[in-house]
Amino acid sequence: MKVLNYIDGRWVSSVSNQFVPIVNPANGECIGEVTISNEQDVEQAVLAAKRAQKAWALVPAPKRAEVLYKVGMLLQERKEQMARLLTMEMGKVIEEARGEVQEGIDMAFYMAGEGRRLFGDTTPSELPNKFAMSVRAPIGVVGLITPWNFPIAIATWKAFPAIVTGNAVVWKPALETPIMAQQLAQIFEEAGLPNGVFNVVHGRGSVVGEALVEHRDVKVISFTGSNEVGRRIAEMCGRHLKKVSLEMGGKNAIIVMDDADIALAVEAIIWSAFGTSGQRCTACSRVIVHEHVKKQVEERLLAAISTLTVGNGLEEGVKVGPVINQDALQKIHHYVQIGKNEGATLLAGGYMLQDEPYKGGFYYAPTLFTNVTPMMRIAREEIFGPVTSIISVRSLEEAIEVNNSVDYGLSSAIFTRDIHRAFTAMRDFDTGIVYVNAGTTGAEIHLPFGGTKGTGNGHRDSGVAALDVFTEWKSIYVDY
Ligand code: GLU
Repeated sequence: MKVLNYIDGRWVSSVSNQFVPIVNPANGECIGEVTISNEQDVEQAVLAAKRAQKAWALVPAPKRAEVLYKVGMLLQERKEQMARLLTMEMGKVIEEARGEVQEGIDMAFYMAGEGRRLFGDTTPSELPNKFAMSVRAPIGVVGLITPWNFPIAIATWKAFPAIVTGNAVVWKPALETPIMAQQLAQIFEEAGLPNGVFNVVHGRGSVVGEALVEHRDVKVISFTGSNEVGRRIAEMCGRHLKKVSLEMGGKNAIIVMDDADIALAVEAIIWSAFGTSGQRCTACSRVIVHEHVKKQVEERLLAAISTLTVGNGLEEGVKVGPVINQDALQKIHHYVQIGKNEGATLLAGGYMLQDEPYKGGFYYAPTLFTNVTPMMRIAREEIFGPVTSIISVRSLEEAIEVNNSVDYGLSSAIFTRDIHRAFTAMRDFDTGIVYVNAGTTGAEIHLPFGGTKGTGNGHRDSGVAALDVFTEWKSIYVDY
């Protein structure tokens, strides 16, 4: 399979004519190749988007939305086929891949609905015979830069609101997952989106990403990825006064109080820590547990981990797939060494799986540390792998303090049967997402998604809040 750029409604290889392999992380096999673009390709895509956007913005929003309805229907038709490709391309287990495509379907219908809403306000004027209102206006060409861990869902969180509000898109997907990008572009093409409204340029962040961020005709950048890259993008956007929306990971915690339903909490921890092999920005990488139930939680977690089957995500019964590539494997293992050196107790995992049947793939055993203290690096830095750490506390106040002590602020959860404790946590957790009696992952598309502190810069993907990224408020006064 050869994956090309999609510019102005045409499938084209980069002017550089260079390709790199696409690798299946389950076995290391090459499943295709993708074109590697340079600044000239970005220039062509931005030019096409700029031309197309003017006409697209004049199409009434309910009509723009009709394209998204069709996109939703096509995603629905292809759900199984796309889920299988997604598993082959990035490794997540097939059940999760189906869930991810479903998120795209939900987002299509949700944002199509926005085509008939796109609410502004009317407000009584201070003066007689004057009408005052505000409307949302499209901004122009928007640049999307997305990661490989949710190659379809995160793209839809950004592209669908951008398009329904009348913008044109130039998208740089992660180089690890170009097949999903190709699928989405094909669907837009079949749904009848005018040429140039949606463009895909494959390539490296340092070339394609940077060219998009620096381009004077790209008016908005929406980025999901690492904190380090996000900060660099913010600096560049700052220099150009460009609007930028950043979503940059987490160090999420599940708090288990002494009155919690322990079985429920353990199930949630397993899913949140090891689902997608821990490669979610919402992954639970800290378990903050009340000292009275620490032993019980440790034992039950160990028992649950021993039942997790690691393997190729396309195989029946596999619960934990591979991680994305060799570099990720090395990074995860490095953090495990750091944890050991810091004095944490390794209870489970802590090693790569490299012999048959894992040969060629990038597998890491689900890993559990205990006796972790809040200042250890494994309790503060994002590992992005199947590793979680138990930290013990004596009270709810201490649990909240530990939860909030990290640089990130994406998702937190509390397990308790006490309504006072639940509401206190809801109020005091310094994160963009809070769960009560559920794990830290699994956000739904109709609520804002994003976080505080090192996680973001105040913007949100998803929900009605996503419209704020891709529109400008225009205030209008009519004297009559
Ligand atoms: N949709 C995912 C969840 O709530 C998170 C997406 C991400 O990791 O970027 O678990």
